[in-house]
Amino acid sequence: MTPSESGRGAPRGAAAAESAAPSFVMNPHTHAIPRLGLTGGIGSGKSTALAYLSEMGAAVISSDAIVHELYEQPEIAAAISGHFGPDVTGQGAMDRAALARIVFADDAELAWLEALLHPHVRRRIEEWAAVQERADPQPALLAAEVPLLFETDAAADFDYTLVLTAPVGTRRRRLASKFTASDLARRLARQMPEAEKIARSDFAFENVGGRRALRDFLGETVARILAAGATDAGARA
Ligand code: ADP
Repeated sequence: MTPSESGRGAPRGAAAAESAAPSFVMNPHTHAIPRLGLTGGIGSGKSTALAYLSEMGAAVISSDAIVHELYEQPEIAAAISGHFGPDVTGQGAMDRAALARIVFADDAELAWLEALLHPHVRRRIEEWAAVQERADPQPALLAAEVPLLFETDAAADFDYTLVLTAPVGTRRRRLASKFTASDLARRLARQMPEAEKIARSDFAFENVGGRRALRDFLGETVARILAAGATDAGARA
């Protein structure tokens, strides 16, 4: 079953084989609160989905927001201006547009920046999750938006992964007001093929059917995850 055939999430692996049965069960989660990693290409609807998950009671965090915070840390800003030159940190604040112009024109520079930021992003998500686990009451679900979830091997940090997809033309239309055509083309060019992300994800959804369809799919996904319960380790934590 593919998302485009069904319009619904397609669980992978053993669960996928049973997906025709109405009562298939997801693997249980191993963390005290189930962790969902949300990914997808630019314009696929990740931020929109994260907002819906928050409305549904999940605690949510966005890698983009973490990166914004990281740029404000003096040691990170110093490392970036040391590498790219002072123009990217004009007036004391990171000039994200200038930085984007450099890194999206040069894969090696982008790789350098990602190698600097991603360990921090991952650690922040881990710290945030630990805080959520100590909260009273605990949220039922933790959801993190991680655009490069598979590209940076961060998927293993999560109990479940969800990829949103949409044809490039749709994504281009959605983002036309936010990026120039050439900026967008550069960003689209450097993402892992969607088919590979779908194959690696527990849930996949082709987000072309309007916001309500996305919200309904997320509601079903959350229900499946919560129904799966915890392993002994997760229940004890
Ligand atoms: P991403 O975070 O993956 O880059 P966004 O969530 O910001 O994507 O979505 C890009 C744009 O597309 C936003 O303006 C959003 O409101 C819109 N959008 C997202 N999902 C849908 C949908 N199912 N139907 C219509 N518009 C959508």
